[in-house]
Amino acid sequence: MSTIAQNLQAIAGTIISALQESGRPAGAVQLLAVSKTFGPEAVLEAVRAGQLAFGENYLQEALDKIAAVAAGAPGAALEWHFIGPIQSNKTRPIAEHFDWVHTVDRLKIAQRLSEQRPADKAPLNICLQVNISGEASKSGVAPGEVAALAAQVAALPNLRLRGLMAIPEPAADFEQQRAPFAQLRALVEQLRAGGLALDTLSMGMSADLRAAIVEGATIVRVGSAIFGSRNYH
Ligand SMILES: *Cc1c(COP(=O)(O)O)cnc(C)c1O
Repeated sequence: MSTIAQNLQAIAGTIISALQESGRPAGAVQLLAVSKTFGPEAVLEAVRAGQLAFGENYLQEALDKIAAVAAGAPGAALEWHFIGPIQSNKTRPIAEHFDWVHTVDRLKIAQRLSEQRPADKAPLNICLQVNISGEASKSGVAPGEVAALAAQVAALPNLRLRGLMAIPEPAADFEQQRAPFAQLRALVEQLRAGGLALDTLSMGMSADLRAAIVEGATIVRVGSAIFGSRNYH
């Protein structure tokens, strides 16, 4: 077995045990393999091991990779998630080539994605990125502004608002890791109570996926624990 296949198997085990630990049903978490900085060969190796959902941060790199992987795995039901910062003049290729966007944090971006989503494709799945740790330099909508943005995004025709995403500050231990994830879960529960049909909490990365799953993550975004450490970006 390749290293990537072994890593995927180990993470699947971590996900299963974290779900059991928290009394959640098997299959309640989707693994998003974050392939930024790794080439199409690494992605194809993961595809051969059964992984179909991939997350990318850098648009041009992603577009090249999506084409190369499609050529190398014809017919595979791949799912591409955009998880990087979005510039408003780069929304069209995102709307055209991705299935999900996790990093919407302002209405203008959502409006452009909706306008530019090709008519022959399913609505683009959207998560709003929340600045849950309140760091000045990080992107994401402030927790107090999520409800207003969610209502506006949910009304756009070619998008399907699925839930919330966050990248908390790194935390030293398990209990500290849990706190921001619990806050994000409370936020999504408030939005549901307000009438939005949301099913997604995109939270947890290589270093904190157990804490995220215990707090209700439905998508974990894991890069280095699958592909190894990144040497640029
Ligand atoms: C890079 C990245 C990840 C994966 O991080 P790892 O620590 O390598 O697992 C997850 N989410 C986002 C938004 C990222 O940019």
